[in-house]
Amino acid sequence: MESTAKRKFSVREIREDFPALRQLIYGKNLIYFDNGATSQKPQFVLDAINRYYSKDNANIHRGVHYLSQKSTSDYEDARKFIANYINANSTNEIIFTKGTTDGINLVASSFGELLKEGDEIIISAMEHHSNIVPWQMLCERKKCVLRVIPITKKGDLIIEEYEKLLSSKTKLVALTHISNTLGTINPIKEIIEKAHLVGAKVLIDGAQSIQHKKIDVKDLNCDFFVFSSHKVFGPTGIGVLYGKEKILEKMPPYQGGGDMIKKVTFEKTTYNELPFKFEAGTPHIAGGICLGKALEYVSQFNMEDIENHEMMLADYAQDLLSTFEDMNIIGESKKKTSVVSFVVDGVHPFDLGTLLDKQGIAVRTGHHCTQPLMDFYKIPGTVRASFAFYNTKEEIDVFIAAVEKGISMLK
Ligand SMILES: *Cc1c(COP(=O)(O)O)cnc(C)c1O
Repeated sequence: MESTAKRKFSVREIREDFPALRQLIYGKNLIYFDNGATSQKPQFVLDAINRYYSKDNANIHRGVHYLSQKSTSDYEDARKFIANYINANSTNEIIFTKGTTDGINLVASSFGELLKEGDEIIISAMEHHSNIVPWQMLCERKKCVLRVIPITKKGDLIIEEYEKLLSSKTKLVALTHISNTLGTINPIKEIIEKAHLVGAKVLIDGAQSIQHKKIDVKDLNCDFFVFSSHKVFGPTGIGVLYGKEKILEKMPPYQGGGDMIKKVTFEKTTYNELPFKFEAGTPHIAGGICLGKALEYVSQFNMEDIENHEMMLADYAQDLLSTFEDMNIIGESKKKTSVVSFVVDGVHPFDLGTLLDKQGIAVRTGHHCTQPLMDFYKIPGTVRASFAFYNTKEEIDVFIAAVEKGISMLK
């Protein structure tokens, strides 16, 4: 049961927790709408980073001394917190990685070793490059076949086409939970169920969902779930691969080195148990500890409060933008999170992004690491505003006025 004593959801108070939000850019209040690329960090996390390096710093898992033992237990406590946070069965299922990209590469490399010629992997037309390229590399290495679920113009997966792609040859479905470019929330539970019917495993790219939704890997019944710390208010360079223990047990190690071994001789090396089998070398200790802190910070709130606020912002922004002439909203699924991507006829996204920047407004422009998706819409890129729970309606008003002014200057 969730504890009922959650912190009251007050955007004004939440903003006070994020020092980066209190700065002027070119003399204007920063309006940070690039949360899809990375999030700002609360003081709670910043303090933990500082405390780790200024006091607790020591290498983990091997030391007899006090600091090494403290760092080890803080690192492993973070793993426990994360396991609980996503409702994993045990800490054996929580592998620390460098981030989403690293987690996907780990699975492509290690789980990929178990595949053979002719096996098929299914992804979708809305994947981030990091959920495309590792599979292409694997397909080349193992002579497997990559299949792509097409999408509608509105930005929804075509489920009937997905069903047609599934067969006994399908070994893995690798799909984003939420599109970083379109904002579409994919019906992953249904997709996972269907994949399991043909005996395929499912990897969910949770880079855009962990910060917006309650994640319960047991309820989803996904086989792998990957995410990055830096998009959920934690430090860069750290992330998590969740994998079902039974599957991780069968997978060979990813990288060799210290910490991932039980015994090394020149004749034969035996590997450490989970999760350490997949964690070669000194890890990002401060990162792991502080990702735990970031999730602890988020867990003070009811996830529904966060979702409702963010959806209110996205709907508000999208409704206002839609009234502009020559405006094309890219991604109009009925099930969206707080991402609004758009292009204006006759205006290059980069030019508009540059003008917004001069007003202290941070948005992303370009292909958002989803070039095949840009090809599908026949556009070079979009302007993307992506919101977090610390953004406000007032910021959107300033943004809308700046977009309007920008368009009039560029047309
Ligand atoms: C950001 C992102 C990634 C890549 O995450 P990294 O932190 O760069 O490894 C992958 N997939 C999606 C959907 C993303 O938004």
